[in-house]
Amino acid sequence: MQGSYMSVREDRMSGSDTRMRGADMLALDLLHIPGIGRETALRLQRLGLATVRDLLLYLPRRYEDTRERTTLASVTYGSLNTVSVQIRSVATRESPRRRMVLTVAELEDATGDAEAVWFNQRYLERQLRSGETYVVSGKVERGKGRPVFRNPQFEHESAMQQHVGRITPIYPETEGITSKFLRTKIGQLRSWIAELPDVLPPTIRAECALLDLQEALRRVHFPESFSEIEEARRRLAFEELFCIGLVVEQARRRRLAESSIVIPYDVEYARERVAKLPFHLTDGQRIVTHEIFQDLEKSHAMNRLLQGDVGSGKTVVAMLAASMTCHAGHQVAFMAPTELLARQHHATLTTLLADEDIPVRLLVGSMTDAAKREVAEFVATGIPTIIVGTHALLEERIQPSTLGLVIIDEQHRFGVEQRQSLRQKGVLPPNFLAMTATPIPRSLALTKYGDLDLSVLTERPAKRGKVVTEVIRGSMHDAAFPAAREQLALGHQAFVICPIIEESEDLDGVMSVTTEMDRLSKGPFADYRLGILHGRLSGREKDEVMEQFREHQLDVLVTTSVVEVGVDVPNATVMIIESADRFGLAQLHQFRGRVGRGTATSYCYLIQESADELATQRLQAVASTESGFLLAEQDLRLRGHGEIGGLRQHGDSMFRIADLLDAALLHEAQQAAGKWLDEDPELVAHGPLHEAMRAYQYILDLD
Ligand code: ADP
Ligand code: MG
Repeated sequence: MQGSYMSVREDRMSGSDTRMRGADMLALDLLHIPGIGRETALRLQRLGLATVRDLLLYLPRRYEDTRERTTLASVTYGSLNTVSVQIRSVATRESPRRRMVLTVAELEDATGDAEAVWFNQRYLERQLRSGETYVVSGKVERGKGRPVFRNPQFEHESAMQQHVGRITPIYPETEGITSKFLRTKIGQLRSWIAELPDVLPPTIRAECALLDLQEALRRVHFPESFSEIEEARRRLAFEELFCIGLVVEQARRRRLAESSIVIPYDVEYARERVAKLPFHLTDGQRIVTHEIFQDLEKSHAMNRLLQGDVGSGKTVVAMLAASMTCHAGHQVAFMAPTELLARQHHATLTTLLADEDIPVRLLVGSMTDAAKREVAEFVATGIPTIIVGTHALLEERIQPSTLGLVIIDEQHRFGVEQRQSLRQKGVLPPNFLAMTATPIPRSLALTKYGDLDLSVLTERPAKRGKVVTEVIRGSMHDAAFPAAREQLALGHQAFVICPIIEESEDLDGVMSVTTEMDRLSKGPFADYRLGILHGRLSGREKDEVMEQFREHQLDVLVTTSVVEVGVDVPNATVMIIESADRFGLAQLHQFRGRVGRGTATSYCYLIQESADELATQRLQAVASTESGFLLAEQDLRLRGHGEIGGLRQHGDSMFRIADLLDAALLHEAQQAAGKWLDEDPELVAHGPLHEAMRAYQYILDLD
């Protein structure tokens, strides 16, 4: 093992015929690197690291600066100190209490002496050599008459300091894989950085004053200064944004060049339809509808994402687009993620279009085969129809003969293949309208969703009661109940949301639906009617429970996140969310949107399970704003929290490094992408870029 890699290096240097070529070396499985055995390789895989290339491209999440040295006589107690010391002796002993192994080293420098203590790392006794000089860095406490370093970092003093006494990269770690280990391995493989192909074309680098990849990687892995890191970071982020910009812009250009079904904008008809609604459209709805009608009329397919908070009235916009399409003689497929929602939309559209000769048909999985066949036959005739349904719409036998518009509600709940396969039922590419209540931050909208035109509904239609949100510490848990009881006494209803269905040993302390049901029905809500809703119930059972809640045959609904989308019960005024810190901000916002749908004031209680500072901040963010868009931005910002001055890796797997809030860089990268495409529309001119595109296309999941 030791030999294989060393010989590779030596051969390479000697230039013999057996030398390994750069590309092969980069593709080499990490298993073949000395010091990486089967188990370590598996652990590395958990970090997404399989090859030498992966490792070299693995980015630190932050840095620790231990450049500043002090002496043993002048350490600062209670904080981090870095010293250069000689080790006088090393000894390991068992601590009588708690059965711990202590490794103790006696340290000295010209100014005094000290002690370093490590816990349960017996192997250190063999690593640390008495009489030799080390750089030691760690928190210092007062010992018996001398300073004590607890679990300090250390490294043999040398010219090539790698771990201590410099700016040290800290990588995302996993069990058994420390940053020290990663630094060592990346250090060993350092010379191969030169072999990595640079995805950014040289002309772009020159125009935008960007480092080449090799220099950028050297700087992030082996930095000399923070300004160096910053410049490298900027370059790596640019590459990401540039590539995403290319994929998205290329898709957009292709779509614009393709002809689609044209739906003429019949202004008179639109006016009539709107006048027949039982309410006045909000300004937002009016504008969005107009945008959609204009899109439908173009020769290429519409590709629009309608974003609007829960309750902002997206359905009626969808209905207007659908009726205009039918009016023009074409068919509409309207797909929703659950049967409950499909039925709800079917009922709404049927009512709104009652006076018109546009059939609205339902297609859901629980229908009999005969009923489905009947719908399929009807659709095949080409009669302008709106078919509302679930995934059942994707069934092969559903073949609309003139599909003019595809509408997808809660689009993120569907995979890209599903969205595609519905659109492919059109003979020509149909117009596409996606809807979502999940707010997408502007920056994401410009990147990942860049090929979608955006419409946003910001205001709520009817007069709505406000929602008061309060964060409650887990220990104060019961504080939510008196207020909830008050609401129930007034004849209102309540939701209680738990992250899991049943108690689980793995998730100790997380409230489950079953435990909560038990507790609430015996205690705080004993005199009320409680129902339970979760994903293990059948579709029919779920519908039944929801129906009971809607009809106010139940006062309290204890549920998991299945209640997230679309449920409309204006009489519900209380939302209690258990272990709220386990949910995403956008999701919490969605839950909260289940109340405040009537005119009464509603109450949302976020029960915070962990005492974690970040958890507190996130929940406070939800409590302090009603805007889903602000929350989405905030979520991005907070995810970078605690990662000082360095690089960060977004939970969003697409962005390894780009700071999505850096609007200027985003703009610059997108400009460059557009210009590049003008010259090289098929992206074949620069090999490494061509290669990289496949990966980006895959990650981006474009419609
Ligand atoms: P969402 O955007 O969450 O899908 P819906 O389309 O379900 O919202 O609309 C929520 C409620 O608001 C529905 O009951 C709908 O009838 C009503 N609504 C929609 N637009 C208006 C409006 N302009 N004025 C009054 N009520 C409206
Ligand atoms: Mg909706």
